[in-house]
Amino acid sequence: MLGRQMWKLLTCPDSLMARILKARYYPRTSVVRASLGHNPSYVWRSILAAKEVVVQGSRVQVGSGRSISIGKDPWLPDLQDGCVSTNLNEELAAAPVSSLMMPHQRAWDYNAVSDIFNSRDKELILKIPLSSRREDDVWYWMADSRGCYSVRSCYKVLNPITPGSLADVWRKLWNSKVPNKVKNFIWRAAHNVLPTALNLISKRVDVPAMCSVCNAYEETVLHSLVACSFAKSCWTSSSVGFVGYCSNFLDWLAHVFTRCSKDECNTAMMICWRIWVNRNNKVWNNTTSSVCQILNSAGQFLYQWQAAKQQVFDVNDDTHRLVHGALCWEQPKFGWVKCNVDAAVFESQGKIGIGCVIRNSQGGFVAARCVSVAGIFGAREAEALGIREALSWMKELQIPCVIIEMDCLQVF
Ligand SMILES: [Zn+2]
Repeated sequence: MLGRQMWKLLTCPDSLMARILKARYYPRTSVVRASLGHNPSYVWRSILAAKEVVVQGSRVQVGSGRSISIGKDPWLPDLQDGCVSTNLNEELAAAPVSSLMMPHQRAWDYNAVSDIFNSRDKELILKIPLSSRREDDVWYWMADSRGCYSVRSCYKVLNPITPGSLADVWRKLWNSKVPNKVKNFIWRAAHNVLPTALNLISKRVDVPAMCSVCNAYEETVLHSLVACSFAKSCWTSSSVGFVGYCSNFLDWLAHVFTRCSKDECNTAMMICWRIWVNRNNKVWNNTTSSVCQILNSAGQFLYQWQAAKQQVFDVNDDTHRLVHGALCWEQPKFGWVKCNVDAAVFESQGKIGIGCVIRNSQGGFVAARCVSVAGIFGAREAEALGIREALSWMKELQIPCVIIEMDCLQVF
């Protein structure tokens, strides 16, 4: 939440709050370079505590470059470090980025950039595309696709999901392709809330503490699903194998998710569920299944469920696809033309390519155009530039009724 206040100071310098804080704490500099100062208020002290995180996760997009300091603002398109790494003197570090552009043009002064900066900075600067229209230098938040700061995305930046961590275990569990009731069962097992004998006894239910399947050890979740002699036989006969001893079921699950492939993880969850069904049958009906039956029914259930899901997916998709699976191009209605646009990013060459084709209502070719634009863009930005290029071209050709079609849903 404090980060949000800091973000507002960065992006809305004309707001009342920003003007009051600027007048009081950083009258001759920007909030990025502001310090705590003498006798700071509780509010200012709190906002500054979030400054480092917000500034590290943000970059300035170059417009005119007049409000960006060459050596003091993070304006280079580098995820790790957006600041210039070349040693600059104080005067040059404080100079605006606009001084690195050709006079009265929106293009980098190649010679000046080559003379001043080291190869890393030079390469990054020359990759920055310059807009001929945009004047503002805009802050954007890197962890969000729209560039807007949010508490949620900041939390993700501060708590990245590392392989093997608890967050990684839950993410893999909820993303796995197994029936929801099995996911729910595994989640309950990992939280130790299955009605095993020991859990029931802890709730003052009068039941025997021993495992109802082997009758040799006390029944915990780990014992019932993994360590019981019957469960061990299932694991050693399965494609997952027995993955060693752990102190509790959650550790065992984390171990499986780290060590096994996605398919093996799915199988492991199904086997856990089937072992538990077998345990319930033993307790309530006094019937048991063999290891072979457990593995077969777990595999069959998973296969049938995945096949049914695949069928639903295919049926939903059939209306848009031809028999051989390719997407079908549809003609525009009479009097209209259709312009198909696509863009490709050539990252090593530091440019993108845009192609447009116009066809009429009979599907006949009308015109085509291809353009190359210098600069490093993401796929989404490249597609958006493709639309802009297509629209400018339509305007030039003075075509009134046109449908623009592309393969990127995110741009709209
Ligand atoms: Zn047992």
